[in-house]
Amino acid sequence: MWRSRIFWRLFGAYSILLTVTFGLLGWLLIGRMENHILQEIQRGLEVKTILLRDLVNRLGEAELQEQALRVAQETNTRITLIHASGKVLADSGERLDRIENHLDRIEVQQAKTSGIGTSTRYSGTVHQPMMYVARRNDQGPVRYVRIALPLDAVATEIRWLHRVVWTATGITLIIALVVSVVIARRISAPLVTLAAAADAMTRGTGGAKVPVSSADEVGTLAASFNAMSEACAAQMAQMNQDREQLLAIFRSMVEGVLVLDAEQSILFANDAASHLLGAPLQAAIGQKVWQVFRHRQLNEAVDKILASDEPYRCDLEWPGAERRDLALQGARLPGAPHRGAVLVFHDITHLRKLETVRQDFVANVSHELKTPLAAIQATVETLLDGALQDPAHNVQFLERIRENGERLHRLVQDLLTLGRIESSQAPLELEPIPLQAAAEACMSRQADRARAREVQLIAEAPRHPMAAIADAEALAEILDNLVDNAIKYTPAGGKVALRWRAEDHDAILQVVDTGTGIPEKDLPRIFERFYRVDRARSRALGGTGLGLSIVKHLVQALGGTITAESKVGRGSTFTVRIPRAPA
Ligand code: ADP
Repeated sequence: MWRSRIFWRLFGAYSILLTVTFGLLGWLLIGRMENHILQEIQRGLEVKTILLRDLVNRLGEAELQEQALRVAQETNTRITLIHASGKVLADSGERLDRIENHLDRIEVQQAKTSGIGTSTRYSGTVHQPMMYVARRNDQGPVRYVRIALPLDAVATEIRWLHRVVWTATGITLIIALVVSVVIARRISAPLVTLAAAADAMTRGTGGAKVPVSSADEVGTLAASFNAMSEACAAQMAQMNQDREQLLAIFRSMVEGVLVLDAEQSILFANDAASHLLGAPLQAAIGQKVWQVFRHRQLNEAVDKILASDEPYRCDLEWPGAERRDLALQGARLPGAPHRGAVLVFHDITHLRKLETVRQDFVANVSHELKTPLAAIQATVETLLDGALQDPAHNVQFLERIRENGERLHRLVQDLLTLGRIESSQAPLELEPIPLQAAAEACMSRQADRARAREVQLIAEAPRHPMAAIADAEALAEILDNLVDNAIKYTPAGGKVALRWRAEDHDAILQVVDTGTGIPEKDLPRIFERFYRVDRARSRALGGTGLGLSIVKHLVQALGGTITAESKVGRGSTFTVRIPRAPA
């Protein structure tokens, strides 16, 4: 309150006004009272001059000085009796021979013309301020009687008067000033509260309330302020909520978001941006984007985004521990002049990889289809060219056509299976499948092929029967593929074993062979589509290069994993781990 300028202004104005008013009042009062006192004294002296005149008229000239002295002593005044010429005939204040002519005295001059004269001045004769009253006398030698009163006594009275009036004025002024403090406080306090609340509001602590309940304009202002503050607080809360929401959205985004100002300084970056661009961007807030990233493509893109109203899009190759492909989408922030730009980075590395895989796949499929088709075409042409009439070879040619046709059929079959699994068109029906039965069924399906290739096919069952949670068809396909491969890549006299057992909550199925084995460098890639260690051999054996890829997809669809171990010339082991049915 004491620091309130409005308080000091009000109080200052009141103080000046009150001090001037009371000062003026005191001054007028004292002036008036002083006047009154002097008038009273003057009137008294005037009366005394009448009495003195009458007394003088009864005296002889010789008695004048003596009587003047007496009366003067008794009345504590100075008596002067003056001849018409101005010569002083008697004076109680000075020796006659030392007194000059008194005709020029103001009061004497006035008395000469109007019968009575008054003057207040410093007396050179008695050396003090005096009030003089002179009266004209129209009888005898004394033409003017004059009584003078020293003003010392009056001065004491006037001093007292001053003291009383100024003390009273001072006390009243102090009381008035105290009252003015109270009034100034009353007026300024609500305004101070309002100002403090408004200040708090500008500093962002919205919702400040002003406890002012007066019914005047300040009260109305306070009520309006409170309503405004409440609306502001609600808006701020809403804004904060929106901001939090926005931040939460930005945080949860997989896309990197970077906000720049018009000078290319980083204003905001989400975690995904730091991750994608491989830099801790929270620490780079405020820095220029071209200082943080020395990446020509990005910096050119930023220039273009800031230079145009149109959104801009481009792909970036982002170097780093792992090279990434990023798609950058940028737009300038609205406003004139514009306030910066928002940059959104998408990681398209995976998409690019998929694209490459898709392209490779199409190329592979085309190639795989082309080979048997070309063979069929060539054989048909040979037959048409006359080989049809050659009984020694025509059946052989037809046999080749059938073989290639079968190969095409297998390929299309495998492609369809793969497509079906990948697009999850045929949902799996998971149920407990007794593994003994599944293995026996597989063995009986593969028995002929094993026998034909002179490979011993055996099943190694655990002591206790067990079941896996799987889809019957999918499991059959997995086992058939693995056993078929094992037979295919095991030379005559070799052995293929199908074993299964329980481990924790899983069922472990293994296909173990004593075949050619797989070189270590190829092991990680054998589950890729069309990947074959020995392409010619695989083809010769009727392989499509899709078998293990189908197996891997099916195992994953069953919620399991597949691994392969192998030693060249010693054999391979494929291990499938899928969930086990409770005993
Ligand atoms: P393919 O139709 O050629 O058999 P797969 O996808 O089934 O295709 O297998 C991919 C490649 O893995 C095969 O070409 C082969 O080189 C190798 N392979 C798979 N199983 C075995 C195995 N049991 N022994 C040796 N090599 C195998």
